[in-house]
Amino acid sequence: MLNRSLIRAPMPCIDYVICHELCHRCEVHHRPTSWQLLSHYFPDWEDRKRRLDHFVL
Ligand SMILES: [Zn+2]
Repeated sequence: MLNRSLIRAPMPCIDYVICHELCHRCEVHHRPTSWQLLSHYFPDWEDRKRRLDHFVL
């Protein structure tokens, strides 16, 4: 389930969240391997996450 308010976030942030959740299909926990997988698809995921963290949903 995604937060419905996410629809108001910038598209790069939405892409980050969806990819993050899809990576959990391969790695349930937040382990280094999950971040590596996320980095494979979004090398700038930390910037996207930071932007989302500062966006009021
Ligand atoms: Zn997660």
